[in-house]
Amino acid sequence: MGQYKTWAIVIKTLDYGESDRIVAFYTSDFGKVKGIAKGAKRSKRRFSNALELFTLSRLIFFDKKESGLARIEGCDIVNTFPAIREDIRKIAFGCYLVELVDEMTPEREANPDLFDMFKAFLSLLSDDEAEAQILRIFEIRLLSLLGYRPGLDRCLHCNGILEHGEPAHFSAQQGGLLCQRCSQGYYDLSVISPGTAKILQAAVEMDLSKIHRLKFSKQALWESETILSKFIQYHINKELKSKKFLKDLGM
Ligand SMILES: [Zn+2]
Repeated sequence: MGQYKTWAIVIKTLDYGESDRIVAFYTSDFGKVKGIAKGAKRSKRRFSNALELFTLSRLIFFDKKESGLARIEGCDIVNTFPAIREDIRKIAFGCYLVELVDEMTPEREANPDLFDMFKAFLSLLSDDEAEAQILRIFEIRLLSLLGYRPGLDRCLHCNGILEHGEPAHFSAQQGGLLCQRCSQGYYDLSVISPGTAKILQAAVEMDLSKIHRLKFSKQALWESETILSKFIQYHINKELKSKKFLKDLGM
């Protein structure tokens, strides 16, 4: 019980009743935190843009039980990422990132590395072109930081190293690759070429500052979109709303 201060990014926001707002943040010290901002709807001045999607701030909140809904006391805005808000593609990308974080992370489970990665991707999206590969790199890194990194160099069953040129099969249920021989009898498989497996591994391991050097081929983009979507859907058990928004924009 007490008052806390932490770095926070707004991942969901909705009006509540006559004058309040309920906001979900992803924070550096507490993971996902949901809170109520009393009077935020009525008085725009108090919170300004601090409760809009994507905004990075120093959040001050009060908590009675360290669970449930916190009381949002204040937010000192650090960055609202205005460039994201000015471009429809970037908005769609940003909505996907925040929804993915919201759906994939449990409440009140700190993961500072995930917070840093999330913040870095919002900066990347703000500063660079909105290219589909950003989404794929974010997905595979998020999965890895949450402990779901798919095995992409060996067959999950026989542990055989996948030979160059041999296509493998990705199983969302098994969380990794199966070689041609071991893939018999599975029905949820997607084909993945060695090039795609390789670039996805690089996307996890590469330093974030060098990530713009990666260039996904059309095939790698298409294959990774298929397998990562299936894998994410397997974990959250539904399709993300923002995914439809991306599809409507042809992405
Ligand atoms: Zn095998």
